[in-house]
Amino acid sequence: MRLELTDDQEAFRDTVRRFADQAVRPRAAQIDADDQFPRDLVREAGARGLMGVTIPVDAGGAGRDYVSYALAIEAIATASATLAIILAGNNSLVAEVVAQFGTTAQRATWLRRLATGQAVGAFALSEPDAGTDAANQHTTATLDGGGYRLNGRKVWVANGEVADLLLMFAATEPGIGGRGVSAFLLPSGTAGLRAETTADSLGVRGLGCRDIDLDDVRVGADARLGAPGDGFRIAMWTLDGGRVAIAAQALGIGQAAFDAALAHAKRRQTFG
Ligand SMILES: Cc1cc2nc3c(=O)[nH]c(=O)nc-3n(C[C@H](O)[C@H](O)[C@H](O)COP(=O)(O)OP(=O)(O)OC[C@H]3O[C@@H](n4cnc5c(N)ncnc54)[C@H](O)[C@@H]3O)c2cc1C
Repeated sequence: MRLELTDDQEAFRDTVRRFADQAVRPRAAQIDADDQFPRDLVREAGARGLMGVTIPVDAGGAGRDYVSYALAIEAIATASATLAIILAGNNSLVAEVVAQFGTTAQRATWLRRLATGQAVGAFALSEPDAGTDAANQHTTATLDGGGYRLNGRKVWVANGEVADLLLMFAATEPGIGGRGVSAFLLPSGTAGLRAETTADSLGVRGLGCRDIDLDDVRVGADARLGAPGDGFRIAMWTLDGGRVAIAAQALGIGQAAFDAALAHAKRRQTFG
């Protein structure tokens, strides 16, 4: 196993570090204080390929490997944990999922927009009673004519404030756990969707965290991602990538905290 970074990975990391130092770090405290989603920084990150790091170049992404993606999230997190999780949500939790499971039409509609930052994606799995126990989905998707009617409530949807696309999970066969869950791609303007703020996302303020109510949301069958009953498997596949990004984010936060403490300790003198 090769443990050293390649020249290309190092060069990419250095470019992202410069962006983090010059554009992100000076804004981080204000983003936290104001709890304001940093749309301009997200656009700038998108222009640098950071909204679709592993998405192929011909689909609008940066076409890089997963190590490079982790390095990018780590570098951004040293400057702003909030921006790191915004990018991780779009990359791992939506764009990569559309690339992996989307039909040709779904990829054509969404992938380039997500990978370039023209659109922002959000992942809506958690519910008031479905956190760690994510298979326990109470949101339902009932067959309705040729499509589905969705009802329920999602919580803790990062990027939910600005999202153009929601990757939504719901039980198409309630009561049988994960095997009865399906995934859907819902444009945020779909009638019946309502977002509200209930939680203070302490530590990552500005993340645009929202709860989302679904009240008779009607979609065609072409909004379903994967086959009926594939949703939980898709969610678990998604979180495998998400965990890499969240670990990289934690590493960046830890490094920044350590560096700040070290700088402070070098200046400080007590008891002589
Ligand atoms: C800032 C933030 C952003 C988020 N973004 C998103 C998002 O974009 N999309 C989304 O869908 N969700 C999101 N979430 C939700 C997140 O995925 C859940 O909070 C997480 O899955 C944990 O669920 P929970 O909060 O219900 O905790 P619980 O499931 O209630 O767990 C509470 C504690 O109990 C422990 N526990 C749970 N079950 C067991 C058991 N059987 N045995 C022993 N211990 C157990 C857990 O380890 C944990 O320590 C976000 C959360 C936060 C805080």
